[in-house]
Amino acid sequence: MAPADAGADAPVATRQGSAPILAGLAMTPKIGQISRMRGLTQPEPALVLFSGGQDSTTCLAWALDRFAAVETIGFDYGQRHRVELECRGRIAAALRRGFPQWRDKLGADHLIDLAVLGQVSDTALTRDSVIAFEESGLPNTFVPGRNLLFFTFAAAVGYRRGLRHLVGGMCETDYSGYPDCRDDTLKALQATLSLGMHHRFAIHTPLMWRDKAATWELAHDLGGEALVGLIREETHSCYQGDRSELHAWGYGCGACPACELRRKGWEAFAKSRSPGASRDPPVSRPTR
Ligand code: ZN
Repeated sequence: MAPADAGADAPVATRQGSAPILAGLAMTPKIGQISRMRGLTQPEPALVLFSGGQDSTTCLAWALDRFAAVETIGFDYGQRHRVELECRGRIAAALRRGFPQWRDKLGADHLIDLAVLGQVSDTALTRDSVIAFEESGLPNTFVPGRNLLFFTFAAAVGYRRGLRHLVGGMCETDYSGYPDCRDDTLKALQATLSLGMHHRFAIHTPLMWRDKAATWELAHDLGGEALVGLIREETHSCYQGDRSELHAWGYGCGACPACELRRKGWEAFAKSRSPGASRDPPVSRPTR
C-alpha cells in the first residue's frame, strides 16, 4: 500500500534507509493539497508545537485530522503574554470534549521550561517595553533563536518518544517578518536536526503559505463552526496578554500587531463566508 502521506511533504517523511537526508526537503503541502489529503491517516504519531494561539491550535487540529496519534509541546520562556500557556489546557479539554473523533488521538502534553531564553533576550515579548520596529526592519517582538530552539527541543523530545513528525504554525505569508518563520529556515533546520540526531525528522508547516483568513478557513474545513468558535474564544494571540474583552475575532487588546493580524484575518474570513461572497477561500499563493 502506498504511504498515506504521498503528498508534497512526503519526501522526508517516507524516505528510509540510506537516502540522503538533504534530498527532497520540500515539506509544505502545495495549495489545494491539504484538502485532497484529508481523510488519509498517516499511521505514525506527530508532535505539535502548541503555544495556545490561533495558529498552533489550527495546526493541532490539522495533525489530529491527519496523524494516528498526536502529542503536544509548549514552552515557558518568560513571555509577557504568558496567559497563552493557561489557554493550552482549556483548548485540549475543549478539543477532547467537542471532537470525539480526536479524543483518543490526543496524547501527552510536554511543557518545557525555557526561562533561559527570556534571560538572554531583550525583546518586547520578554520585557515590558513598547512594541516598535528596529533599525534592522524587524519588530522588537522578534525573539532571536526562539523557533530554532523550540524545534530543537521538540526534536529532542521526539527522539525520546519515537516521534519524527514535528508540526509548527510558522507562516511566511502573513507574518511579522521573523526570519525563523521562513520556509527556507525550517527546511535547513529539518536537515540539521535529522543529521545532528541521526533521526529522520519531518517538519510540517501547514500554514506556511496561508494568510490569517485562510487559517480560519482551514479551521472551518477541519472542524466546522465548532472548531472556529473554539479557536475564537479559547486561543490567545495578543502580545499584551489582554483577555478582558471578547471581540468578534477573539480576546485581545485590539491594538498590538498580533491582534491586528488576527482581526484583519477574521474580517476577511467572515466577509468570504457572508451571503453572496465567493466560497473560494482567500488563499495567498507563494511568490516564488
Ligand atoms: Zn493585543
